[in-house]
Amino acid sequence: MLTNDVLDQWDRENFFHPSTHLAQHARGETPTRIISGGEGVYIEDRDGKRLLDAFAGLYCVNVGYGRQEIAEAIAAQAKELAYYHAYVGHGTEVSITLAKMVLERAPKNMSKVYFGLGGSDANETNVKLIWYYNNILGRPKKKKIISRWRGYHGSGLVTGSLTGLKLFHDKFDLPLEGILHTEAPYFFRRPDLGMSEADFVAYCVDELEKMIAREGADTIAAFIAEPVLGTGGIVPPPAGYWPAIQKVLNRHDILLIADEVVTGFGRLGSMFGSDHYGIEPDIITIAKGLTSAYAPLSGSIISKRMWSVLERGTDENGAIGHGWTYSAHPIGAAAGIANLKLVDSLGLVKNAGETGAFFNEAMKAALGDHPHVGEIRGEGMLCAIEFVEDREQRRFFGAEKKVGPSVTAALLKRGIIGRAMPQGDILGFAPPLCLTRAEAEEVVGKTAEAVREVLG
Ligand code: PMP
Repeated sequence: MLTNDVLDQWDRENFFHPSTHLAQHARGETPTRIISGGEGVYIEDRDGKRLLDAFAGLYCVNVGYGRQEIAEAIAAQAKELAYYHAYVGHGTEVSITLAKMVLERAPKNMSKVYFGLGGSDANETNVKLIWYYNNILGRPKKKKIISRWRGYHGSGLVTGSLTGLKLFHDKFDLPLEGILHTEAPYFFRRPDLGMSEADFVAYCVDELEKMIAREGADTIAAFIAEPVLGTGGIVPPPAGYWPAIQKVLNRHDILLIADEVVTGFGRLGSMFGSDHYGIEPDIITIAKGLTSAYAPLSGSIISKRMWSVLERGTDENGAIGHGWTYSAHPIGAAAGIANLKLVDSLGLVKNAGETGAFFNEAMKAALGDHPHVGEIRGEGMLCAIEFVEDREQRRFFGAEKKVGPSVTAALLKRGIIGRAMPQGDILGFAPPLCLTRAEAEEVVGKTAEAVREVLG
């Protein structure tokens, strides 16, 4: 077996890490973390250190690590048929079965699922299909997509543009033309407006209305949003937000993409976030929880309304000119089937709701009164703590104080993985959906210790 020192050297010499400070890493200033195993909610590094992964990788290992059922399904599929494509009507037993299973779980009015590899390419597919749709309907001008500041939808050219985080735009010449960003329903961050929460919802809706009026509804194709803002800070929407937004979109004939890459398959305690909030999307993006990341697989679930237009398009134009070599890859599909069966048999959607609520309540009980905790918020198996310099004035710490990263590091020292969310002093949690109450208590207890170590 290679030693850690050799791996560390090879890593710095050869490996281009995503979302990493490249120069610091190459200089050896940031650690190479080599993960070697996992079981349940725990992962293990090469030094034998066991860590409770309260972020489920990147909110994706929903069923937890080390599930033999999924590993065996992948192995069996690899032995039988590792690959065949899905072009011109081809399929495999697993890809066809998984499509049926996804549709059985999807909100009503959904028609078909197009499989990709990850959340970014699925959202790329969505934008293309929406453009195709409007061209078939004879509306060539109706192409712009409205996203939200702080939304996260991927890091490709179009999807990185949809993502509303500066870090994903700066120096990449993004966002591309035709992709617009409106206010996110992140009430806690807008004390400057001096509004009640209900007024803030009306403000967000009005901002959207104004953008549509400014641009012209005949130029706006779709609105994309996560049911709960994820990477932008783990922010559940205020009451009334979704019904009001939906009304505006319907009125202007603007399609809605619900990006459920994080929320799909149970994380909020409902199978889909769209069900949870009564959202009626035209497309749903799925990825992470579809396979619990045991193999890469994503999907775009298309509504009946869109599907009928896409069919018409191919009658007029021939086969749809969109496909990935690995669309509906059999290894991913086998993993997806075994994963969704486990989600059902272990009752993980219910557990995400119940243990998630317990986790959130316990976190509030432990830290809700801390003078540097501004807000603890969450839904299902998502939880975030937002730190503030001054609670009364709601004054935020400056980024240079690195409060979020420091608390995350203090927590890691105690054997728990949380995530310093990329914008602001936010410690985020998105544990596997199989988290138990005892494990939730452990995360809360260690988090309270870490917060007190850093912030007193
Ligand atoms: N959409 C959302 C809501 C996400 O959270 C992510 C990934 N964190 C993506 C899309 C992009 O998925 P991927 O990284 O698999 O391309």
